[in-house]
Amino acid sequence: MVVQREMSFLESVDANFSRAAALLDLPPGLLQQIRECNVVYQLRFPVRIRGEIRVFRGWRAVHSEHRLPAKGGIRYSPNVNQDEVEALAALMSYKCAIVDVPYGGAKGALDIDPRQYTEEELEAITRRFAAELIQKAHIGPSTDVPGPDMGTGPREMAWILDVYQALRPDDLNASAVVTGKHPTMSGIAGRHEATGRGVVFATREFFRHPEHVRQAGLSGTLEGKRVIIQGLGNVGYHAAKILKEEDGAKIIGIVERDGALYDENGLDVEAVARWMKEHRGVAGFPGTTFIEDGRRLLEHECDILIPAALENQITAENAPRIQAKLIVEAANGPVTAAADEILRARGTFMIPDIYANAGGVTVSYFEWIKNLSHIRFGRLERRFEEMRGHQVIQALEALTGRPVPEAVQKTLTKAADELDLVRSGLDDTMRTAYQEICAVMEQYPGTDMRTAAYVLAIEKIARAYVQRGIWP
Ligand code: NAD
Repeated sequence: MVVQREMSFLESVDANFSRAAALLDLPPGLLQQIRECNVVYQLRFPVRIRGEIRVFRGWRAVHSEHRLPAKGGIRYSPNVNQDEVEALAALMSYKCAIVDVPYGGAKGALDIDPRQYTEEELEAITRRFAAELIQKAHIGPSTDVPGPDMGTGPREMAWILDVYQALRPDDLNASAVVTGKHPTMSGIAGRHEATGRGVVFATREFFRHPEHVRQAGLSGTLEGKRVIIQGLGNVGYHAAKILKEEDGAKIIGIVERDGALYDENGLDVEAVARWMKEHRGVAGFPGTTFIEDGRRLLEHECDILIPAALENQITAENAPRIQAKLIVEAANGPVTAAADEILRARGTFMIPDIYANAGGVTVSYFEWIKNLSHIRFGRLERRFEEMRGHQVIQALEALTGRPVPEAVQKTLTKAADELDLVRSGLDDTMRTAYQEICAVMEQYPGTDMRTAAYVLAIEKIARAYVQRGIWP
C-alpha cells in the first residue's frame, strides 16, 4: 500500500469524491460541476470592540444549487480558512443528497475565537456579519439558509433572524432564514440534540446489519459497548448521553481541548458536561484518570470511537495506532484521506461523516418546513388521535366486557407531539439512508461505506442536474 501525503481538508473531500466518481459512468463535465464550489464570498467588516475598531473576516460558500435553498451551518473558529469552508460546503451537498433533504450545499464561517469575546461583543459581531450577508443577498429563506455549527448555536441564530426581520419586514417567511433556533424562537423541538441523536440512529442501524458488525470484528448490540468520544460539545454531548442512557453503552473516554478523561467503568457524561461548563475544560474532573495529551486516548483500545470535535483528527501519523473497531464520524472530516486509506487497509469499519452527522440538517429541514407552514407539527391532529384512542378502548371494552389494561390504554391514547414526530422522521431518515448506502455496497462488492455514500450522493445530484437540464 502506498500511503498518500497528508492532504488539505478540501483535497481529502475531493479525493473521496474522485474514488467514488471513478466507479460511475458520468460525463466529466457533469462530475466537475458537482465537485467544484459554485460561489465563495469572502467579506471583511469592522466592529468597535472595547474602544477600538477590529476587522473580522468571514465567508459564505455555496457549493451546489441543483436544489434551492442551499443549506449549511455557520462556524466560528480561529484560523478557519477558505479551504475549510469550501470542504464543509461540499460535504453539505453530499449529505443532503444522501438523506434526501432537498437542498444544495453551503457553509459559512467567521475567523474568530468566540471564547475571547463577551456575549454583547459576540452579538455585535454576529449582527454585523448577518447584515453584510443579508444586504448582499447571500442568505434568505429561499436562497441560502444558515444553521449552527462549531462555535455557534440557537443564540447566534436568533440574532441573525432578528437582523433579517429588521431588514426584510415584508418577508412572511422570515423565520425560515435560519434553522437551529430555540423552540421558543420559531425553532423546532429536537433540533438541538438532532446531530447527536442522528449519530446514535446511524450506529443502531449498523448493529442491525450483522454483516457489518462481523466485518468490524464486533458482536451483539450497543449494550455494554466501550465508547471513546472526542469533543463534548453539542454533537458529542448528545451522542454520548443518548448512547449511555438509552442504549446502555459505556463512555470510557472523553477527549477535549485541554486533555482527556478515562474511566474503564464508564464516565458520568452529565457530570463531565456540568464540570466543563463551570471550568471551561475537563482538567480537574474528580475520580477519573486525566491524560494531558488528550489525543493519545483516540488510540486507546475500545469498540467504538466517535470523533465529534473537528476535522483532521485521525491522520496518517496516528491512524496506524487506532485500535477502535468502528469509527462513527460525528464531526465533519475527522479522518483525513491518508488516514482513511490506512484504516481501510487495516479493516476498521468507518461510518462516514456525510451520512453519520446528517441528522442535524435533516431536522433543520423539518424546522424550515415548519417555519414555511407557520404551524407546529402535530397541532391539528394530536387531540383527534387521542380521542380516537379512547374510542378504540371503549369499543374493545364493549366487545370483550373486560377493562383494557392501563399500560395498553396509555399507548393507545398517546398521540404524537412535535418531538415524537421529529425523532420518528429522523430515525426513518437515518435508517433509510443507511439501507440505500448498503444497496450501493452490494452493487459494487468490496466498496467501503464512505465510497458507497459518495456514489449515492453523486448519483442523486447528477440526476437532479440532468433532469433540470443544463442552460444551453
Ligand atoms: P461545538 O462547538 O458545540 O463542540 C465542539 C467540541 O469539541 C467542544 O466541546 C470543544 O471544546 C471540542 N474541541 C474543540 N477542539 C478540540 C480538540 N482539538 N480536541 C478535542 N476537543 C476539541 O461544535 P458541534 O456543533 O458539536 O460540532 C462538532 C463537529 O460536528 C464539527 O465538525 C461540526 O462541523 C460537526 N457537525 C455539527 C452539526 C451541528 O448540528 N452542530 C451538524 C453536523 C456536523
